[in-house]
Amino acid sequence: MSASLPSLAETIARHGLAARKSLGQHFLLDAALCARIASIAAPLEGRHVLEVGPGPGGLTRALLESPAAGVVAVELDHRAIAAQEELAAAYPGRLRVVEGDALRIDAEALLPAPRRIVANLPYNVGTPLLIGWLRQAHLFESMTLMFQQEVAERIVAAPDTEHYGRLAVLAQWRCQCRMTLRLPPGAFSPPPKVWSAIVHLVPHAEAPDPALMAALERVTAAAFGQRRKMLRSSLKALGGAEALLGEAGLDGTRRAETLSVAEFDRLARRVLARG
Ligand code: SAM
Repeated sequence: MSASLPSLAETIARHGLAARKSLGQHFLLDAALCARIASIAAPLEGRHVLEVGPGPGGLTRALLESPAAGVVAVELDHRAIAAQEELAAAYPGRLRVVEGDALRIDAEALLPAPRRIVANLPYNVGTPLLIGWLRQAHLFESMTLMFQQEVAERIVAAPDTEHYGRLAVLAQWRCQCRMTLRLPPGAFSPPPKVWSAIVHLVPHAEAPDPALMAALERVTAAAFGQRRKMLRSSLKALGGAEALLGEAGLDGTRRAETLSVAEFDRLARRVLARG
């Protein structure tokens, strides 16, 4: 760690970074834990890392201590920018700080390939950020992301289990997803109300047609929008539900939560073929 850096507690005090709920701020102050999270994203040699929401910079420091080629940190909270600039000065040429909303960035323009994402996400926008990254997953080698545990469980869930739904289908269709680390509320300052968990996502090598992903989004929205109903009823919104299910070789009396990711893929391909 660079000798000239203040402790994270000093950084927070000096820059007035009292945590704001509206920005989903729960900071990680334990350097060993931050290093462990960075190591889940390994190998980082020669990789360009996108960090969303660096805040006071605990995880950013761990990423800068890793062999990553560089870090681009996107932060919405103006108060944290000066703290990040201090960090950038301590690691010349390795950290670029971008003030803005991560929901609106163009990752391809912001950092060169090979890219990895590592972030302790703001919980209020974790799911929309993930869906956006899944739509352009070909840009990233991996994503190592901290969510509320309940969201992490929804990402890795298997069919016919409590947490299985649209998020599991979209994430697993596009990536191999693994929950790697669970953290109690006390690991954060201030502590959130619930446990958190890291999901490590590795996109499948083959990048699908964006139109197929769009079809899958429509199918899963219809199917899980009425998850207790039989598919022949819940898919009516797509038009020609019975024919669609027949073409995909699926029994219309089944419910969405019983379908595997491969079966949703078959449905999406039929929807796309119909135009
Ligand atoms: N990475 C830090 C850590 O682990 O201690 C902070 C993590 S905190 C859970 C989430 C961070 O995301 C905060 O710094 C917050 O200001 C920032 N944030 C919230 N919404 C954001 C958005 N839409 N775009 C970029 N950053 C955002």
